[in-house]
This record gives sequence, C-alpha cells and structure tokens, in this order.
Amino acid sequence: MSEVLVLVPGAADAVRSSTFGLLTAARRLGEPSVVLVGPDDPEAVRALGEYGAAKVYVADSPELAEYGSVATAEVLVDLARRLAPAAVLLASTRLSKDVAGIVAVRLGSGVLTDAVDVRPGSRGPVVTQSVFAGTHLVDSEAVRGPVVITLRPNAVDPEPAPVPPAVERVEVTVGEAARRVRVVSRTAKASSGRPDLSEASVVVAGGRGVGSAEGFAVVERLADLLGAAVGATRPVTDEKWCSHEYQIGQTGRTVAPQLYLATGISGAIQHRAGMQGSRTIVAINKDPKAPILAIADLGVVGDHHVVLPRLVEEIERRTQ
Ligand SMILES: Cc1cc2nc3c(=O)[nH]c(=O)nc-3n(C[C@H](O)[C@H](O)[C@H](O)COP(=O)(O)OP(=O)(O)OC[C@H]3O[C@@H](n4cnc5c(N)ncnc54)[C@H](O)[C@@H]3O)c2cc1C
Repeated sequence: MSEVLVLVPGAADAVRSSTFGLLTAARRLGEPSVVLVGPDDPEAVRALGEYGAAKVYVADSPELAEYGSVATAEVLVDLARRLAPAAVLLASTRLSKDVAGIVAVRLGSGVLTDAVDVRPGSRGPVVTQSVFAGTHLVDSEAVRGPVVITLRPNAVDPEPAPVPPAVERVEVTVGEAARRVRVVSRTAKASSGRPDLSEASVVVAGGRGVGSAEGFAVVERLADLLGAAVGATRPVTDEKWCSHEYQIGQTGRTVAPQLYLATGISGAIQHRAGMQGSRTIVAINKDPKAPILAIADLGVVGDHHVVLPRLVEEIERRTQ
C-alpha cells in the first residue's frame, strides 16, 4: 500500500483532533506516514500511532522554525521524491496552505485546498470541496501527482486505528530559496482560554441582533459555560462588539462544529459560507422568516435579550 504523507507542524499539533481527522482521511488513501516537525516527542508519536500513523518521520532542526514555510516544504518535497506517496495531506491552516502551495510547485503536482472529504478514485484520490458559499460540492482529481491536499478541520471524524509507529529521523538541509526569508521574532497571542474557533466542537455566535457589546457579552458567557468558541457576523466585528478574529463567513473563518448556536444572526449567504458545515445548528431569532431558521435543526423564535439570559441561568443552575 502506498504511503500518504501527513504534515504535523509541531508536537503540540500531534494531539489535536484535526490531526486525528487528517490521519483518518489519510487511511482512506493509503498508509499514513507523519512528517513531524520538531523533536522526537514520545507522547506525540504515541498519539499519532493511535490514529494509524505507521511511520513517523521526525524533522528536528532549529532552522525549520527560523526559515518557516519554505524550509518545511523542502522537507516534504525531499520525502515525497524519495517515497512517491499516493498523496500529501495537510490541515487547512494558513501555515499549512502556504506549505502546500510550495510543495505542489516543487513537485509539479496538483494542489486541492479546503477539502471536506477525500476518497480513493480509479486514477488517484478524489477530493470534495464545498464551493460558492457552501451551496455546491465539487469532486476533483489532480491530473499530476502526488496530489497535495489540505483538509478542513472537523471535516472528517477521527476514528482510532492503533499501530505501533516506526520512527525515522530525517536529515534537514535548508536550501538557498528557504534562506531568503528568515523569521526574526515571534510573539504569542494572549490566550482567551477558549478553544480555537476553527477546531471547536461547539461554537456560540452572535449577530447584529444582539444589539450592543453588552448583548454580545451574554454570547461570551454562554460560550464559556459550554466550553465553546465564540463567533460573530461581520456587522458585529465592524461595530467592535468583539474582535475581528471571531468573524465567521466568506471573508472570515470557516467552522464545522458539532453544535453551532447562532443568536441574532439573519443567515446571509456570506455568513452561511463559513458555518454551513456545522453538524447541528440551533438558531435564536425574533423574526420567524429569518433565513437562518430555514437551515437550523432547532429554531427558537424569540428575543436574544430574553432567551440567552434564561439559557445561561438554566445552565448555571444545572451545573452548580
Ligand atoms: C463581499 C462580502 C463579504 C462578506 N463576508 C461576510 C462574512 O465573512 N461574515 C459575515 O457574517 N458577513 C459577511 N458579509 C455581510 C453579510 O452580507 C451580512 O450583512 C451579515 O452576515 C449580516 O449579519 P447579521 O446576521 O449579524 O445581521 P443582520 O442581517 O442585520 O441580521 C440580524 C438578525 O438579528 C435578528 N434580530 C434582531 N434583533 C433581535 C433580537 N433582539 N433577538 C433575536 N434576533 C434579533 C433579526 O431578525 C435579523 O435576522 C459579507 C458581505 C459582503 C458583501
């Protein structure tokens, strides 16, 4: 069975559910081999083996952090040339999409980004993408391989398939092209303590109907009670009721949680583009004709200022 190279950009990523989803998807196409950037962390290797990583190639060099995407891409390209994998799989994050493009150009392969599904086809992997603001699904195959695919977080449910991974250290040689750009400093973002929006299994999102920053604070309170990430529509971030990084939609983030709870959101197509992949949608809106209610699994016709505080109160009562 051909190997499928899966990029894990750091030991911390090895225990993420998005990585387990990547490995589950990779198993449909061949035998997953992880390229782990960073030290040979036994916990990381063990976690990767739980989801079927038969092999873990460890690329450990301080230069990989210093020279960023191009240096990481060079490691993948060298391995892909040596192993001729069936595909190269990466997460649909900004960093990995950057790496994916470089890998595809260097290999002369096709690249398909933001996949929501992958399966084997007669001529190679078939990749499904959700397009036109989530209104259509498109299946594509790369004409030239090995195809480089980035997969959206939460698109594939992780399924364990434990194997004992074989670990191989790979030589890291940073080429001239990678040395043209050097990362000179990194500043960690202050943590909100909430799960990452793109990977969260529960998202509570507020729209213009919350009315004010105070109205949005109740959205944040509910999210914290549920251990959820916070999301918002564009008017809310434009009004500065919350940070721009919470914006979900065509020009914001894409989410695919198990539960998406929307309050005061109309359900414009540009917003739906970022949340239509959610498994269960609960919407609270005072207008029974709001488009979001047409795609909701559970619709509550009611006032945000009444329904949300009651929901918060009830959850607090039950969890005390
Ligand atoms: C190129 C382009 C890109 C865009 N990208 C994005 C994007 O990435 N993300 C995004 O979100 N938008 C985006 N937009 C904007 C998008 O078109 C909509 O304007 C926006 O999504 C609407 O946000 P909203 O639902 O919060 O507000 P509205 O459409 O104004 O809806 C507010 C809703 O709240 C309800 N409501 C009002 N008061 C209450 C209350 N007290 N209780 C309960 N319900 C109440 C109303 O009935 C209404 O349905 C984009 C637009 C363009 C043109």
